[in-house]
Amino acid sequence: MSMFGQVYVSNGKYRLKGDFHHMTPNIPIRNAEDGWKLMGVTNPRSMTYIHTYGGEAPFFEALGKGKLLGTRCDNEGCEYKGSVYQPFRIHCPDCLGRNTIIDMTATAKKTAKVHTFMVCERSGAFNILDKPIKFINIEFEGVDTILMSYLSLGDPEIGMKVVPIFRKQNPTYTILDLSWVPEGTPEKDLPENFGF
Ligand SMILES: [Zn+2]
Repeated sequence: MSMFGQVYVSNGKYRLKGDFHHMTPNIPIRNAEDGWKLMGVTNPRSMTYIHTYGGEAPFFEALGKGKLLGTRCDNEGCEYKGSVYQPFRIHCPDCLGRNTIIDMTATAKKTAKVHTFMVCERSGAFNILDKPIKFINIEFEGVDTILMSYLSLGDPEIGMKVVPIFRKQNPTYTILDLSWVPEGTPEKDLPENFGF
């Protein structure tokens, strides 16, 4: 069994298995200028946070299967009926109706291009992407929003055509399962666990 607690849902309730917080021995804090006298202790703790995806769960499940899902407003009474959203929006921001989930993998493969980009040499805590991180904003034909993601290979340029890649092996079920490479990149060059 994993050292981390595990969660599943049954009959509409979370079911928890294992340990969700781990105690670690205290470590003394001492004063270097005062004979290493005791000043206090650190309390290292590790905990598991239960993060719910709610209506966005299908989006994350699909990434590991090589699919990019978006949503569309199909509400007849909505002034902006037919609007397509990527990133995935559960509800239409105009009529607040529940959107329809659509598979837009083919649209992404054919029409994705870099709208703008930002290269970050530094990151925050817990970053696991290689630095510099090439954040790209991606536009698609027929889609009303711009997606923020990251480029795995090459250097971004405005207007550059890109294609999605998916972490189909050992998916993390997070947004990191989706990345992008320049159009025409051979499959053998893709990062480990990723495919088209
Ligand atoms: Zn709407």
